Amino acid sequence: MSLPPIEADAVIIGAGPVGLFQVFELGLLEIKAHVIDSLPVVGGQCVELYPDKPIYDIPAVPMCTGQELTDNLMKQIEPFGAHFHLGQEVTEVEKRSDGRFDLRTTLGTHLITKTIFIAAGVGSFQARTIKIDGIEAFENKQLFYRVKDPTQFAGKNIVICGGGDSALDWALNFVGKAESVILIHRRDGFKAAPSSVAKMKELCAKYEMQFEVGQITGFEERDGHLREIKVTGSDGVTRRMPLDVLLVFFGLSPKLGPIANWGLGIDRKQLTVDTERFETTVPGIFAVGDINIYPGKKKLILSGFHEAALAAFGCVQYIYPDKKVHLQYTTTSTKLHKVLGVESPIFD
Ligand code: FAD
Repeated sequence: MSLPPIEADAVIIGAGPVGLFQVFELGLLEIKAHVIDSLPVVGGQCVELYPDKPIYDIPAVPMCTGQELTDNLMKQIEPFGAHFHLGQEVTEVEKRSDGRFDLRTTLGTHLITKTIFIAAGVGSFQARTIKIDGIEAFENKQLFYRVKDPTQFAGKNIVICGGGDSALDWALNFVGKAESVILIHRRDGFKAAPSSVAKMKELCAKYEMQFEVGQITGFEERDGHLREIKVTGSDGVTRRMPLDVLLVFFGLSPKLGPIANWGLGIDRKQLTVDTERFETTVPGIFAVGDINIYPGKKKLILSGFHEAALAAFGCVQYIYPDKKVHLQYTTTSTKLHKVLGVESPIFD
C-alpha cells in the first residue's frame, strides 16, 4: 500500500553543503523544507569525496574539513526542523494542473510541492558496478554495493572487492563476525587509510582473513544461487572461490540521471539559471550549487551559499504570493531571532 503524498512548500533535491544551506535561507523566511538525497548520509561531495581534507575558503572559517563543514551546517539548520528523506533518488518531477509539482523518489516517497530547489551537485552518486555478464541477477540478494544492515552478513563467507576505505573498513569490520573474509583488489596498493591497510595485513598474517591480488572474471551459479566466483590473479591463473556474499566497493560515480528528463534548460550537463533568483527555465524550480550554470559560474561552496540566499527570496512569490519580504539582519531582527530560537540581544 502506498503512503499518501506529503504536501510541502519547498523540496530541496540534494543534501550537499548548498542544499543544507538552502534549508537555512528558506528557514529565515519561515519556509520549511523537505530534503532528499540519494546517499544515506548528508554532506554531498564534502562527505563522500573528502571528509577529512581541509577546506580553507569558507568565509570566516580559516579551516575546516568536509565533515566539519557538514556538521556545522547541520547544527546551523537545526532550528528549522527540515525533514530529511535519505537513501532515495528523485526520479520524477512533473508539473501539476494546480501549479504545484509532483515529485517521486526511488523509495516511493511522493511529495506535492510549491517549489523545488535542485542542489544536486554533479548529479546523484551511484555505486560503480562490477561488469560481469549476468551477475546483476544477484544484486541485493548476494551481491551488494552498500551495507545497510551488517548483521545480515554474520556467519557468512564474504568476499569483498576494492581497495578504498569502504572495502577495507568493511573487511576489518567483518573479521570475527563473518565465517570468512577474503579481500580482493586488482593490485597490492590501496587508496584506503594506511592504518587500515596495516591492520588488514596484520589480520592476514594471523590467518583471520585473506587478501588476494586479482580481478573477478566469472562466477558459478547453482539453483539460482551465486556459489563461487572466479578470480584471475596477476600471475594469469584463475582460481575459484566459494562464497555466500559478494560486497563490491568500486567507488561512486556521479550521474545527472533523471534530472535530464524534467524538461529543464540544460547546457553542458548543468541547469541554466538566471542570476537574479537562480531559477531554471521552469518557474518555481530553482537550481543552486554545482548543478547550475550561468556566465562566470565558479563551482565553489561559497558561490552556492550566495545562490541559495537569492533563490530563497526568489521563491516567496510562489509560496506567499501576497507577502512582501524585506531583507533583515540576523544580528538585529527580533523576528529572525524568533525563527532562529535565540534571545534578542539588547543593544545600547
Ligand atoms: P554536492 O556536494 O555535489 O551535493 C549534491 C547532492 O545531491 C549529492 O549528495 C547527491 O547524492 C545528491 N543528488 C543528486 N541528484 C540527486 C537526485 N536525483 N536525487 C537525490 N539526490 C540527488 N569547494 C570549495 O569551495 N572549496 C574547496 O576547498 C573545495 N575542495 C574540493 C575538494 C575536492 C576533492 C572536491 C571533489 C571538491 C571540492 N570543492 C571545493 C567543490 C565543492 O565540494 C562543491 O562545490 C560542493 O560540494 C557543491 O555542493 P552542492 O551542494 O552543490 O553539491
